[in-house]
Amino acid sequence: MTDSSSPPRRAIVIAVGSELLTPLRADTNSLFVTARLNELGIEVVAKLIVGDRRDDLAAAIRENLGRADLLVLTGGLGPTDDDVTRQAVSDALGLTLREDPAIVERIRARFARRGLEMPEVNRVQGQVLAGASVLANPNGTAPGQWIERAGRRVVLLPGPPREMQPMLVAALDERLAPLCGSARVYRRVIGIAGRTESEVEEVAQPIYSTWAAWAPPVSTSILAAPGQIELHLSVRTSSEDEGKVVLDRATAAMLPALGTDVFSDDGRSLEQVVGEMLRARFWRIATAESCTGGLVASRLTDVPGSSDYVERGVVCYSNLAKTELLGVSEESIRLHGAVSEEVGVAMAVGMRERAGVEVAVAVTGIAGPGGGSARKPVGTVVVAVAFPGGTRVRRFLFLGVRAQVKFQASQASLDMVRRAMEEFLPAPGA
Ligand code: AMP
Ligand code: MG
Repeated sequence: MTDSSSPPRRAIVIAVGSELLTPLRADTNSLFVTARLNELGIEVVAKLIVGDRRDDLAAAIRENLGRADLLVLTGGLGPTDDDVTRQAVSDALGLTLREDPAIVERIRARFARRGLEMPEVNRVQGQVLAGASVLANPNGTAPGQWIERAGRRVVLLPGPPREMQPMLVAALDERLAPLCGSARVYRRVIGIAGRTESEVEEVAQPIYSTWAAWAPPVSTSILAAPGQIELHLSVRTSSEDEGKVVLDRATAAMLPALGTDVFSDDGRSLEQVVGEMLRARFWRIATAESCTGGLVASRLTDVPGSSDYVERGVVCYSNLAKTELLGVSEESIRLHGAVSEEVGVAMAVGMRERAGVEVAVAVTGIAGPGGGSARKPVGTVVVAVAFPGGTRVRRFLFLGVRAQVKFQASQASLDMVRRAMEEFLPAPGA
């Protein structure tokens, strides 16, 4: 067992809240907590979500305290009956709860600043566990608590992210960072489009398997995200320079094997990469979208500053819209169908001319669940790009439900724009 002067090595995060056990809310606090702990070289070995029930939570705390030397709880510090974290920790650790009048006064003053009287229920937020240090909450009423006992630490944090995050950062800076030495985990994310997870694994595994023998070793994991594959590289070292050098070396070893399927090696999203490529070329883009319903334009405009290169986008869902807004001939639609290479190209070319931009991307497809046929099953998507290098068109077949087909179609659209630009005018140094 560690004593209080040695840093924790293994942490468990418990997110408290019954809403987090419904399909309506996801626990994101544990992601933030994990990132901050990893930076200090503390590994998160498990995390769990427990509803707002005192007995369940006390049992979860007892069970997990033996498995880790740091337990981080978020949520359940509110003033209402369903906020049970303080009591559950009290039950699990056998620590009494006592009201701290100074905290109650602070909460009362916080209400008073807004011209309000503190409701009596808020008094419970002033209850402190015996031996706990109080963590100030500048952004809300519930203070956090920090308990150290027999070399183990239990931390109680509020649920709202904007209260939890600064509190955690301050507590770690003050209480753990000085103990942790300078070892940190550094990461790099390589984003890959146009290959399946197993295709990436096949070429990547022989390369990254040698990294385990490096000093310091680089660990790698492959993640299949919607429409893309990610290689996550990480290294633990006490020197930021060394971390960078080692990750640079690993990345340089990997990139040639994946070629132009790599769209970023620094965690940037595809829409960011496409945006920066457009900006570097002083080009503007317009989108003509059928089955994606504006998703491509939406993703492009998620990037701050995209008004520099996004000119316009149209959602041309009906055949009429394709002819009226883009000049696609009725005959072409009748002859080849709305989901066809011919119509895709006509949409892109029409959009490019009408918008007067360098790059236009068009997407037309069958998102399902209806509308498929033997020749063009659900998931059939045609993407076309018209740009100064000519036109490019490809037919894809995506699996999944409607939302998944739409997202993959938007991903393929952005990726085709990226590849077209890459091929026509490679970025300097590429
Ligand atoms: P609580 O302090 O448990 O009452 O939580 C207050 C609010 O914080 C909840 O309604 C959520 O909106 C948010 N919240 C609580 N826990 C989490 C979590 N693990 N991840 C993200 N948001 C959370
Ligand atoms: Mg709650």
